[in-house]
Parts: sequence; structure tokens; C-alpha cells
Amino acid sequence: MYRIAELALGAAQSAGATYVDARVVHKSRQDVQVKNGAVDVVASAHSAGIGVRVLCDGAWGFAATCDMADAAVMETAQQAVEIARASARTMIRPVELSPVDAAVDEVSHQAALDPFQVPIAEKIDLLLSCDAAMNVPGVAVRQGSVNCTREEKWFASSEGARLWQERIATGAGIEATAAAAGEVQRRSYPASHGGQKACRGWELVEELALQDHGKRVATEAVALLDAEPCPQGKMDIILTGSQLALQVHETCGHPVELDRVLGTEASFAGRSFLTLDKLCSLRYGSEVVNIVADATVPGALGSFGYDDEGVPAQRVRIVCDGVFCGYLTSRETAPTLGRSSNGCMRADGWNRSPIIRMTNINLLPGGGGALADLIRGTDDGLLMFENRSWSIDDRRLNFQFGCELAYRIQGGEIAGMVRNPSYQGNTPEFWGACDAVCGEEEWQVWGVPNCGKGEPMQVMEVGHGVAPARFRQVTVGVAR
Ligand SMILES: [Zn+2]
Repeated sequence: MYRIAELALGAAQSAGATYVDARVVHKSRQDVQVKNGAVDVVASAHSAGIGVRVLCDGAWGFAATCDMADAAVMETAQQAVEIARASARTMIRPVELSPVDAAVDEVSHQAALDPFQVPIAEKIDLLLSCDAAMNVPGVAVRQGSVNCTREEKWFASSEGARLWQERIATGAGIEATAAAAGEVQRRSYPASHGGQKACRGWELVEELALQDHGKRVATEAVALLDAEPCPQGKMDIILTGSQLALQVHETCGHPVELDRVLGTEASFAGRSFLTLDKLCSLRYGSEVVNIVADATVPGALGSFGYDDEGVPAQRVRIVCDGVFCGYLTSRETAPTLGRSSNGCMRADGWNRSPIIRMTNINLLPGGGGALADLIRGTDDGLLMFENRSWSIDDRRLNFQFGCELAYRIQGGEIAGMVRNPSYQGNTPEFWGACDAVCGEEEWQVWGVPNCGKGEPMQVMEVGHGVAPARFRQVTVGVAR
């Protein structure tokens, strides 16, 4: 495959490109879903092609093809140069890339059990057993899914980089929806919106033990129908697992993408309140809030060996003792800060140009101990689980999240189930009200497989490591 990539490099350079990179990508995906005791989806897809990105006359050009014949690849490379020349006519300033060592390397996947080798019948049997466990009176819809993705990628640049990377990711989840008298309630495991996903193999699905949680999620969904509505007002809240991961994703991960800050990306609530003047000066959160972007966490969904500019995976500080101190950058944007790229450029397949994407944006564990300790130390509050809805403004400043379930905490003890819980806040005020993050023993990385960005939309797999955290006197109410 390097031969094809090098053919593209040569053709683009002959046509006048001053920089070229070529990515040959093979991507496969398999989805198995069961709904209400029947197989709902068994699907697989495969895609292969080459994308060529060039700089010519100081501007970017990109072209891609799934025709891997020599002539088609060379023509595609020449087309990328033509596009760059055309773009240069309206250029504001020429692109300058921060330097990177041209690496030659191979990075294998981290799956112990290849999920594509597990028979589809075994996947269906697992989901049917979960479905049966969720079949309790009052549950109207039972759903379960497993999916896996494999990507093999050859990256070559005119600077000499030659990188082969292989990646396997596996995901799974179940959910039960109960309905009665106009009320609809859903519970999911291990996370809402499709479950958990990681750069691991079938061993992840085995560890999740989905079938052991079927009855619980179904029973909770039914119990929520008659639960007390969420109280309104100001209250302490404890966020857990995938909900806290989504909180980090929306209010930290997206606003620290430097292309949004510089105004070259604006889709999907796409700007940022974290403007350049705030770097190393804005108090983003309290002193217990420490956030890193870490593409090196083994098995995490946002991990890789090198990004799609050939920059090695890194661990960089984003928030240090509450102070905002770093962005997610690319080779083009990093010089704005006088820095080198921290390796966040990724493309959704061969036919898309890379843009700045989250890696694993992780809230580091704190000194809050176990979740039980946090609950014991809370006099009057809410313990919230799994996301149900969210909204956020264009600058990622004001937000509202609804959760599937909350428990009322009174006098340090769980005091009953609450339905339709929601909370709202302003990003720096909210993180400023964080007074405790649980310790290492509660810390876990959650995969977000469907982060959308760009036009045309690129879907990216990212991750968030979190341990449950408490936020004091947050505005809570009934989700609408
Ligand atoms: Zn996202």
C-alpha cells in the first residue's frame, strides 16, 4: 500500500505541491441489534480508498478516490494540487506547518479477542438473553446492540513519514423503555446512546456482563414511571460515569478545539468561549479540576499511535488545578500559540480531510475517595445516572442536561428515586462549583463513538476518563 501512497506523493510533487500526505484506509464495521425478542439489524460494511492532502502556493488541496489503479491515484493527487492552486487565489495567509519528526513505525491493534471472529449467532444469542432478562411487565421496548470496527491505515508524507496503524474497537449496550399513562422512562447499561465502546476486542463485551444487568435496567425503567418528579431549585449534585463523560465532552472537549477558537470551524454549536486571551489565565474550574487530553491511554476509544498528520499520540494538560492551560491543536494551528502540534488531527475515513478532534479528554481522579464516601459527605443532593438529553449554546458556555435517573441524597444516605432529573449551568461557574472528584478506584474511561463535527459531517470515536464528581448548589429541575 505504501507503493500506492508514494505514487500519489510523486504525482503531487511533480504537479508543484510543496507538501503532500497520502492515507490509504481500509475500514470495516459490523452491527448486530436485537429489539423486542427479534433480530432487528445484522449489517456489515467495508470501505477502502486513498485521500491525498497537499500544500501548493501556500493553500490546502484535498482529493480522494476508491479507485486504486495507478492512473486514478495519480490523477487524484493532481486534482488535489489543482484545488490547492484554486484555493490559493482567495488565501488570507499561506499555511505554515509546525515541524514534526518524520516517523517510520507500525502500530498494531490492542484487541485480545478479535470481535469479527465471534460468530454472529453468538452475538444474537447474547442479545436475546439480555432481551429475555428485560422482559418484565411495563417494559414496552427492549433493545440491545453490539458493534465492532476495524481500521487499517497507511500514511506517507513528502517529509518521509511512513506509518502503518491498525485499530479494532468494540462496543455494546442494552436499554429498556417503559411506558404508561403518557409517561415514558428509559434505563440503559452501561451507558445511554448505544452503550460503552473501547479500542479493545470481544473481551470488553464479556467483562460488561450485559445479561446480568437486563433485569435491573428493566425494573428501574418501570419504577421510574411512578417515581417522584425531580425537585426544583439549587442543590448539590453528584455526576457519575457516562453522564460526567458527556459533561466533559461538551463543556471542555469541544471548546478547547483550536480550529473553533480561530474561527475555521463553526458547525454544530461550533464556536468557543475559550478565546486565546484566556489561555493560562482563565479560572475554568475549582482547584480539584484537572483535565488532560491523552491519546496514549491503553485500550481507550480516543487512543491511537499517530494522528492523521503523522504526529505521535501525546498526553497534554488542558486544565491544571482549575486554570485553563491548553488547546487541542494541529500542525497548522499550533504555531498561533508558538507551540508544536499536540497531535489531534483525525479524518473520518479515506475520503475526508483531517480536522482537529478530541482524543481522550480526561478528568483526572481526585482525593474524593470512593463514591460511597462522596454520598456520605452530601447532606442534601442528587446522584445522577446516564444521559437522556442535552443542549448547549454556540460558545459552549450555557448548558442543560437531562438524565435517565437520579437518587435523592438526604443526610448522607440514598433516599429514593427521582424521575426526569435535569441540571443546568454556565461552564466555568459549574466547574468552579466542583468540590470533590473520586479517586483512582472509581476512575474509568468511557467511549463516545459518535462525536460529530465538520461539513460534511465527520463522525469520530473519542473517549473520556472520569471518576464521579460533586458540584455544589447547581440549579436542578424537571427535564422537559
Ligand atoms: Zn462531540
